[in-house]
Amino acid sequence: MTEVLDRQALLSLLERPALRRLLGAFNDDAEETRIVGGAVRNALLGRPVTEVDCTTTMLPEVIVERAKAAGFKAVPTGIEHGTITVIVDGEPYEITTLREDVETDGRHAVVHFGRDFALDARRRDFTINALSLGLDGRLYDYTDGVADLADRRVRFIGDAHTRIREDYLRIMRFFRFHAEYAQVDPDPEGLAAAGAERQGLAILSKERIRHELLKLLVARRAEDTIRILADHGFLPWLLGGAAEFGRLSRVAAHDKDDPDPIWRLAALAVTVEEDADRLRERLRLSNDEHRKLAAYARLLSLLKTWALPLDAMVVRRLAADHDVEALGTVLAATAGEPFPIVHADAREALDRLRSGAEPVPILPLRGADLVEGGVPKGPRIGELLAQARQAWLAEGCLTDEAYAKDLLRRVLEQA
Ligand code: ATP
Ligand code: MG
Repeated sequence: MTEVLDRQALLSLLERPALRRLLGAFNDDAEETRIVGGAVRNALLGRPVTEVDCTTTMLPEVIVERAKAAGFKAVPTGIEHGTITVIVDGEPYEITTLREDVETDGRHAVVHFGRDFALDARRRDFTINALSLGLDGRLYDYTDGVADLADRRVRFIGDAHTRIREDYLRIMRFFRFHAEYAQVDPDPEGLAAAGAERQGLAILSKERIRHELLKLLVARRAEDTIRILADHGFLPWLLGGAAEFGRLSRVAAHDKDDPDPIWRLAALAVTVEEDADRLRERLRLSNDEHRKLAAYARLLSLLKTWALPLDAMVVRRLAADHDVEALGTVLAATAGEPFPIVHADAREALDRLRSGAEPVPILPLRGADLVEGGVPKGPRIGELLAQARQAWLAEGCLTDEAYAKDLLRRVLEQA
């Protein structure tokens, strides 16, 4: 079974020079430090490993001492949980003291530091997240994670209900890791427990839900998994509105090389601006994220009632007034719907604007041009510019010099 896992990639982790230095300094007769969690999982899957976390018998203050003695920088990023970020040759590593959760209340855990790798593995969420790798290349698997990884299956460690009640965020993580790593249907026991414990999500902070949901939206099987969430009654609570699965699928196909969680969220859950406002509140979105959802909503409303076919000129006009990425997302989301009707040259124009091959049009006229033409400074300048902008939009957003001159001449005639 395990031959589908990449043992070579796992061992080559240990050949990374900075990591070798780190593990060399943190392993001896008294203390043991291993690579743990996502790095081991991803290496075995042959996927890129960007973050390497380690777990260690050393207490936090010992990590700091040893790091300094070895000439590494140590930053106490999460010292109350036992986590120190150690920087080796410019690369950051999170080093966490072995832990046991002694008390949990559904969202926080009281932890004790320990020296037992097996107990530290068992407090983790899923079997595939609990593997560790020693400096000597030995792989430690206390929870049957290797078999589940080989089967591409996400399974809770221990009893799913119990593990969810310790920390309800594990419901969201179950779906998120399923979406990213599974190739089979969700584990029936985990799925049933997630559904049954659903109301526990309400005690979590919105920030934690947001983090997992946005990661889920860009995971490999985001669309299937969102449907599973819907089938099990999670979406009304998470989104508070309708879900457009077809639009999500089309946007996911369109952006798969560089997925953006907010555009995917827009496709799934935004039809009018009120949706953008509600999602900002529910998911604690930033101003910039909210601005993207609102831009999508405005363009969607505009284009759903756009009776004429969209051509390159209309696309240029829309790009002058709206976010080009939002426009691309709306056109991807609504492809195959009756409206808008989109000509091939409109898509080509959009591609040019998105890639920068064609600049986003900017009104080729400034207040200073009007002043130079003899209009006195004052509110009249703003009015004339607004009129000029309307004419410019209606005429196709030309920006060449001859057009700019002619536009200025016409505006000055009105002044
Ligand atoms: P990613 O590549 O998405 O960061 P990861 O495995 O590193 O994947 P993290 O969310 O960064 O995932 O968590 C690191 C590790 O900590 C996990 O692999 C898991 O072992 C453990 N862990 C994190 N959150 C929880 C939790 N809520 N309950 C139990 N274990 C957890
Ligand atoms: Mg991680």
